[in-house]
This record gives sequence, C-alpha cells and structure tokens, in this order.
Amino acid sequence: MKILVCGGAGYIGSHTVKELLDKGYEVVVVDSLETGHKKAVDERAVLCIGNISDGTFLENVFAKHNIDAVIDFAAYSLVGESVKEPAKYFENNVGGTLSLLSKMREHNVKYIVFSSTAATYGEPENIPILETDKTLPTNPYGESKLCVEKILRWFDEAYGVKYSVLRYFNAAGADPDGEIGESHTPETHLIPLILDAASGKRESICIFGTDYPTEDGTCIRDYIHVTDLADAHIRALEYLKQGGESTCFNLGNGNGDSVRHVIEVVKQVTGKEFIVKEEKRRAGDPPMLIGSATKAEKVLGWRPQYAEIGTIVEHAWKWHEKKMY
Ligand code: UDP
Repeated sequence: MKILVCGGAGYIGSHTVKELLDKGYEVVVVDSLETGHKKAVDERAVLCIGNISDGTFLENVFAKHNIDAVIDFAAYSLVGESVKEPAKYFENNVGGTLSLLSKMREHNVKYIVFSSTAATYGEPENIPILETDKTLPTNPYGESKLCVEKILRWFDEAYGVKYSVLRYFNAAGADPDGEIGESHTPETHLIPLILDAASGKRESICIFGTDYPTEDGTCIRDYIHVTDLADAHIRALEYLKQGGESTCFNLGNGNGDSVRHVIEVVKQVTGKEFIVKEEKRRAGDPPMLIGSATKAEKVLGWRPQYAEIGTIVEHAWKWHEKKMY
C-alpha cells in the first residue's frame, strides 16, 4: 500500500514515515522543507519537495504515484505566532489541506489521517478531556485545525472521504534508535529547551508561571512519546481501510507532569545542573491539559509503549546529544 505523507520531514511526520516503512508500507513524502528537514526523511521514502497549496505540484505527485491513502501533518504549529499572524495560519493550514483534499477527490483517494491538536479544546471543561467535550480554541492555530476537522466532516458526507482526526496532547521524546528527533527553529517547546539548558546551549530555563492552581504552582501537561503517536497514525489508517467510520481520537498518556517535575526529571536523566528562572505566566496557557485516550485504546487498540516521562526525556536526550539537523 502506498501512503502519501504530507509534512513527512517534520517532527511527528518523520517518525511516522519511519514506522510506516518498518511496517512494509511504501511511502511518498511531500514537504516544502520550510520547517521540515531533508535529513529527517528516511532514505527508503520518495521525497517530493513542494507545497500542498500548489495544485500543479500536487497533481504531478498524484499522477506519478498511485496513492492509496494520505496522512497530513503539513501545517504551521506555533501558537504564539498564530495569534500575531492569523492570516498566515488560516491560509496555510486550512487552504493547504483544502487543496490536498481537492486533489484527493480528483484522484479518488478516499482515506486521510489528519494531524490535529488538543488546542482545539481551548480551556478544558473536564479533566481528563474527552473527544465529546466542547471545542472552543483560544488561538488561531487551534482554530485552523478545528476548521479542517469541520471541512472533513462535510467532505465525508458529500464525497465519502473517510478520515481519522488525531488530537495530540504534548508530543515529546525522539526515536528510541536515536536516528531522528525534534528540531524546531525557533524552539519553543519545554523539553528541548530544558535539554538546551542541560547541555549548556542556553544559559537557563524559565518557568512560565508559578502561581497556577496546581500542586507545585506550575502548568501540567500530558507528554506523549512521538513514537507512540507514529504508531497511532498507522492504527488509524488501518482502521479506515478496514471500513471504520470517520471519527476523532485523543492521543495522550492520560496523566500529567508539571513544568517543575519535568525539569527535575531532566536533571536526573542528564546528571546536569542548570539555572532555573521563574517568570510570569505565558498568555493563553491553561493550568492543566490531560487527555483521555480511552477511545483510541478501545477502537484502535492503541496503548502508549513509552508512557513514562523518564523514558520520554531519556530518548529526547539521546537525540539531543548527537542532533544531526
Ligand atoms: N513552558 C515553560 N517554559 C518554557 C517553555 C514552556 O515553562 O520555556 C511551559 C508552558 O507554559 C507550558 C508547558 O511548559 O505550560 C509546555 O509548553 P510547550 O510550549 O512545550 O507546549 P504547549 O503546552 O504550549 O503546547
């Protein structure tokens, strides 16, 4: 089976490509390489460099390869930037996926696994968050993903496009073999930033807010290993191919770690000491985000293999030490 992975040179995309290839799928990667890395793409995959908003480019890809299904990761994903530049996010994240969906229609491709986010929920009404909870994003990034979710629903009704929407909590960690990992410019995510402090690339790590209504006053997040996310994409794809109904799934560990705790775990894993500063809250950060992945477990048989925060940090550190891109 031939799978088109859009955004396959990015963090979660590249790990999914590796997993697909290991499982015997043929993989075509489409990536603009604007934020993705050529080196992150497994040599066994075919890489087509271009943007999914470009209809002519996409036409060539679909005409050349007999695509059976699509996994779509191609999107901008910086929450802060999305607040400052909503147009950029809606044009790229919604416009790009719409262009991809049109091409899928033209070529009669009926299956798509779509990369969504816990940011679609906004401020949670319950912990752990369920797929049926209300979706009220607090930033354009989350809104752009929710827009695509809604488009997918109508494309299914009208054109029979079957979709699995995967709402990730905090993707973290790296390939256990250490071949690929996380690399963003600029880096805004907590674990790679703490690792930069541990390795001396940064002077310190700042905790954004110590007055949250949590046990230690810092924000709690549900960190989920990127290889577990990759595994869920393949299960979601197989589920659709076996006639599963279009639906969405939360992907998280179902438990949370505070910022302070993650810093302590990094100190233990790396054996390094570094400066920890305390700052005021970052705008738009809810105190606690934890997802219930019971539905993914029941329907997809998905269970995280690397649920421990210590293992997630260990793998991220292994990658960080030899980071090749
Ligand atoms: N965070 C922090 N210092 C940093 C970066 C992040 O204290 O330098 C906190 C942030 O406020 C949030 C958590 O770490 O509570 C995870 O942030 P990240 O940006 O990694 O993911 P998000 O939850 O925003 O998707």
